[in-house]
Amino acid sequence: MTLTPQKTSLLDVGLTWHNSFSQLGRSFYTPLAPHPLPSPYWVGRSTAVAHAMGLDAAWLDSPDFLDVVAGNQPMAGTQPLASVYSGHQFGQWAGQLGDGRAILLGETAQGLELQLKGAGPTPYSRRGDGRAVLRSSIREFLCSEAMHGLGIATSRALCVVGSDAPIYRETVETAAVVARVAPSFIRFGHFEHFSHSHQHEALKKLADYVIDRFYPQCRMDDKHAGNPYAALLEAVSIRTAKMVAQWQAVGFCHGVMNTDNMSILGLTIDYGPFQFLDAFDPGHICNHSDTQGRYAFDQQPNIAYWNLFCLGDALLPLIKEQGLAMAALASYKTVFPTTFEALMGAKLGLTDLGCNASLSDKTLLEDILKLLAENRVDYPLFWRHLSNSEGGTQTQKVRDLFLNREAADAWLLRYSARITPAGRMAATALMLKTNPKFVLRNHLGEQAIQQAHLKDFSQVETLLRLLESPYEEHPGFDGYAALPPAWASSIEISCSS
Ligand code: AMP
Ligand code: MG
Repeated sequence: MTLTPQKTSLLDVGLTWHNSFSQLGRSFYTPLAPHPLPSPYWVGRSTAVAHAMGLDAAWLDSPDFLDVVAGNQPMAGTQPLASVYSGHQFGQWAGQLGDGRAILLGETAQGLELQLKGAGPTPYSRRGDGRAVLRSSIREFLCSEAMHGLGIATSRALCVVGSDAPIYRETVETAAVVARVAPSFIRFGHFEHFSHSHQHEALKKLADYVIDRFYPQCRMDDKHAGNPYAALLEAVSIRTAKMVAQWQAVGFCHGVMNTDNMSILGLTIDYGPFQFLDAFDPGHICNHSDTQGRYAFDQQPNIAYWNLFCLGDALLPLIKEQGLAMAALASYKTVFPTTFEALMGAKLGLTDLGCNASLSDKTLLEDILKLLAENRVDYPLFWRHLSNSEGGTQTQKVRDLFLNREAADAWLLRYSARITPAGRMAATALMLKTNPKFVLRNHLGEQAIQQAHLKDFSQVETLLRLLESPYEEHPGFDGYAALPPAWASSIEISCSS
């Protein structure tokens, strides 16, 4: 491994940079450049994200751009910085945190920020080394694009670069940087930071920035007694409710729903010990470090509300009236269940679950979730096979997933009676675009990581392609949509990254 000399010339990639966050002022961040990463190499690249941010995808083949992502060359027009935030971690106030290993380079004319995660120490690194390891970087890269492919609001990932530089975790690993992209990486924790430290002017500046950029309708809203900050809290509650409803429907477990990992835009961010469920277990804990199960799969909807409550508390100096804040938060309690039921209805091929679901449809849904849990049925396969079962008439593959076939048959009989012959085609079409064939199961990520450690990145590329369009059939790739191997259940993913 040779040490790559730091380039001082500015690389112009033909983008116009606006960098509105940096204009907030120095109480919000520390300006600093990424730390150089020796001898970087490409691990994964997304041309779709390059297009979205207005970057010519040819840069993803360029050694100069490789150096940019590795932190070895500055880019013209950017203003690199690390932002400060605080937050509640595992239910406890954790005080000041901040971008301990992520550096925001800037924001393109398309309004997308580019951030390098794993770019070296910052004033907010505390005892951390500022780096990220290859395995967690590949997982973040693939999962960002997988969630986008599923239609779930998320930060995106432009690319991952690796290096043989040693990184010390439980064992010695190697370093990587993920280039993440989102309209903003502002978290609930940014608001908590300025509120808890009684910097109310900065708090207002931050809220005004977020409203003006992302929630301008909050200034026109007359529902909240003309209070734009209460309107903001409601808008964030609604976006968060919709995002978490999608997580629950697809079987996604985030793993670390601390308030500093909650996006003010209702995006899924900070992919760490996440997992897509294989066998359906509502109480599944995907994060090996979460010994109490605070962030278990079935706790996520309540935790999101708890986190929104923290945001409401942080915004109180601006909202001023507790009643207004509570009313804004209440929207979560209606939007989450109605969105979740509508999504689950679509998984069943029924368009009218949601606001006006009949009692028998609700029971049909509740009963299948209970049966899936009792039989620990593979969650993605159940829904995909059901989608291909022609309204519940071709059910062999579905019933084979259950230990209790009698109970499965009884439910399938009720289900096929519910889908009328006339409605079967429409139901199948809806289900096939609602129930993905491909999800980033832990063992798939793990296989790609093992190969990547051998400098073979073809699995990263294949998974990216499948996960970008997870509802397509992709003939020849059925192995990636199959039951997980036995060893998958022994994979342990923790906060270590
Ligand atoms: P996370 O659990 O990944 O959301 O991280 C919580 C906080 O720790 C954030 O402020 C991160 O920036 C910081 N952090 C995590 N890992 C590191 C690291 N290796 N070096 C520095 N800071 C880190
Ligand atoms: Mg985080």
